[in-house]
Amino acid sequence: MSEGIVYLVGAGPGDPGLLTLRARELIAEADVLVYDYLVNERILGWRRDGCEMIFVGKKPGRHSISQDEIGDLLADRAAKGKRVVRLKGGDPFIFGRGGEEAPRLAEDGVNFEIVPGVTSALAAAAFAGIPLTHRDLSSSLCFLTGHEKADGKELQVKFRDFAHTGGTLCIYMGMGRLKEIAGELINGGLSAETPVAVVQWASLPRQRGVLATLGTVADKAREKGLDAPAIIVVGEVARFYNDMGRRESMPLFGRRVIVTRSLQQASGLSSKLEEAGAEVLELPLIKITPAADPDNVEEIFSVIGEYDWLVFTSANGVKHFLELFLEKFHDLRALGLLRIGVVGPATARALYRYHIRADLIPTKAVGEALADAMIAQNVLDNLKILVVTGNLSSDVLVNKLEKERAIVDTLQVYETQKTDLTEHPAARLFRDEGADAVIFASSSAVKSFVAQGAALSPGPEALKPIGISIGPVTSKAMRECGLAVDVEAANASIDSLVEAVCEKLGNV
Ligand code: SAH
Repeated sequence: MSEGIVYLVGAGPGDPGLLTLRARELIAEADVLVYDYLVNERILGWRRDGCEMIFVGKKPGRHSISQDEIGDLLADRAAKGKRVVRLKGGDPFIFGRGGEEAPRLAEDGVNFEIVPGVTSALAAAAFAGIPLTHRDLSSSLCFLTGHEKADGKELQVKFRDFAHTGGTLCIYMGMGRLKEIAGELINGGLSAETPVAVVQWASLPRQRGVLATLGTVADKAREKGLDAPAIIVVGEVARFYNDMGRRESMPLFGRRVIVTRSLQQASGLSSKLEEAGAEVLELPLIKITPAADPDNVEEIFSVIGEYDWLVFTSANGVKHFLELFLEKFHDLRALGLLRIGVVGPATARALYRYHIRADLIPTKAVGEALADAMIAQNVLDNLKILVVTGNLSSDVLVNKLEKERAIVDTLQVYETQKTDLTEHPAARLFRDEGADAVIFASSSAVKSFVAQGAALSPGPEALKPIGISIGPVTSKAMRECGLAVDVEAANASIDSLVEAVCEKLGNV
């Protein structure tokens, strides 16, 4: 058995783009992921199949797991030879208890490694345009905690002592006692006019903030409803505060949208929604996995040169077929001169990624139209056709070709499976807090959403989402399953879906 190891990994302030390459690589290879409340669930989607997920966060009303128990858990999994990734918001060594977890691992003789992360003060400053140091205004920087001592009375930091640094103060965990902290700094000698910026949820689409002064910050933050998690920046540099018009003015600011597609397909839609300001939760309702019978593959590949037509009915079919094909032949030219038909533009694009141009794309993206287009091109009698399929592909196309007396072979190369989301962090958030909208882009996602039952039923306090559909076929499936269709996209594309969401939920 290989030796186990624990990685204490900084998961950054929230935006998945702000993790290090090392963090991403470790997450992708982990056997066990241990994470808590401030870790963005999108990051967890990078894990591999079969990775154990352990949530150790505190949430109101739930038993929270103690620091000792976390230590036990990390040591236990490492002792079993596992690669454990302990994800911590921001940087593990800045108010992150890395300084307790690391020595504990060392004591237990467990191998471990620390991977630094972008701490939230740096992200808050960057995303609010505040230079934390400045040649003319600030030559030092302090990271302080607004947390109280264990007795719950006094603050851990004597803020008065930090009134004379002449530099910038970044205060973590200070929202609960903001008034007292500002008061202490004033009592210590800082002017009540000193600029203060508050930045909540830095780097995330729901980032919000305010610029105030030490004298006004407590009231202004309350008026704006700002709360934890936030960074408070005190000092002359805070004057630069500016949300760059990026967030609060975006059409989907403050909206949470659920995207339901397969793991591999979600990201194009998600990033467009995020660009419009939405917070996106991805629910991977279906999973595409390679699935081919090796004997069938062998048999068909041995006569590949005999086919007249090769037909793809999905982008997944293209990808998994070509992976198998290139694994065996290592050269695209081995495909020979057969003609290639695809069901629609998305499948054609998938093919073009391999630098292969489809010979035939019907105007309407359905199997039947493809068969008609092939029939219109030439007499199919006795032609050999290979149709690449998944486990759920309909047989309309094959039946139609056979009726024209073509000799049709099918090769299944992938499988669409339902997933179980009971333990999925995005599903947990959806159950607890709900969402503004759920987007469906295929009938199989609709069916799988409904089949998840309790795992995807928002609780009594959760926000109830509206339903958005990519087009008529998906809408029909939604209605059949008892889901309301509040909006249908004008055409079946990602841009059109995003437009539909903005129209229905947009702030501007
Ligand atoms: N290790 C973390 C800090 C954990 S303490 C880091 O390096 O950032 C938790 C505090 O971090 C919160 O109370 C808040 O002050 C701050 N914080 C974490 N994520 C934040 C975010 N996205 N925006 C603003 N503040 C954040």
